[in-house]
Amino acid sequence: MEAECGKKAVIYRDYEGRALCEEHFIRSVDKKVKRTIRQNNLVEYQDTIAVGVSGGKDSGVLLYLLKKYFEERDDIKLKALAIDEGIKGYRDESLDEIKSLANTLDVPLTIASFENAYGYSLDRIMEIKEERGKELGIEGVTSCTFCGVLRRDILNQKARDLEADKLAIGHNLDDEVQAIMMNYMKGDYQRMARLGPKTYKVPSENFVPRIKPLRQIPERETTLYSQLKDMDVAIDECPYVSGSFRFEVRDFINEMEDRHPTTKYSILSNFDKLLPLLREKFYGKVEEVSPCERCGEPSSGDLCKKCELLESLED
Ligand code: SF4
Repeated sequence: MEAECGKKAVIYRDYEGRALCEEHFIRSVDKKVKRTIRQNNLVEYQDTIAVGVSGGKDSGVLLYLLKKYFEERDDIKLKALAIDEGIKGYRDESLDEIKSLANTLDVPLTIASFENAYGYSLDRIMEIKEERGKELGIEGVTSCTFCGVLRRDILNQKARDLEADKLAIGHNLDDEVQAIMMNYMKGDYQRMARLGPKTYKVPSENFVPRIKPLRQIPERETTLYSQLKDMDVAIDECPYVSGSFRFEVRDFINEMEDRHPTTKYSILSNFDKLLPLLREKFYGKVEEVSPCERCGEPSSGDLCKKCELLESLED
């Protein structure tokens, strides 16, 4: 296929109705990410940015781009942060890709694990659920709920330990749109109000705000970008991936996008119009968030969600 400029095309963007060559594609992704950063003030003077890396294409592209944009800025520090959830045959292997990427880009890397932080790997938690889920009342709690809650907590703690002003995560357009739709379908508008390019900053000094520079880039394009840049990224899927609500929503949105290109951008831009109203409604009057009674991390109830889940595993 030929691109608009006459060179060989590397992608046809249905949502724009045009084909791009490698050079124009790379330039276009760079431009979108820079614009997301600039328009939302995601990176500011003298920021230390912890970058969550998973070994996958999204976080690999994120670290690569942030390094490229801020390499010449002495006031901006980047620190890579990886979490080992303890998923045998998956995460242990992707840690090699993470180390190699951080090394190539010359970004210092910190690795934290569920096992060290909480005393359980995700595999162990799933074994407990399998053996005693009914008795412990966690029969209906999915692997992704445990994983997501614990990972959010540990990323926040470690980013704070690294004295980071912000935590950059590799959420792409697909991730953001899935999160919007999942919260919408569950009717959880309060959680929805925390989404956006810079997550709502809970008024607590213990909370490191998250930024999402890739939220305007479709997943298909982060994959292509990582391939064109020859990045060594993990391609295996997590063994717990099937059966999660997120993936049912993903399939549904992808089907809609196939039939109606621009669906994803449309969901995102309409959500961005609603976001200020949602934040005003749910967080307009919140002055301070009280710490969790058990761990001291920011929490909306007496116990944070992580402590609730960990307590449910105890006898
Ligand atoms: Fe964790 Fe679920 Fe992602 Fe696997 S698919 S890494 S369990 S959130």
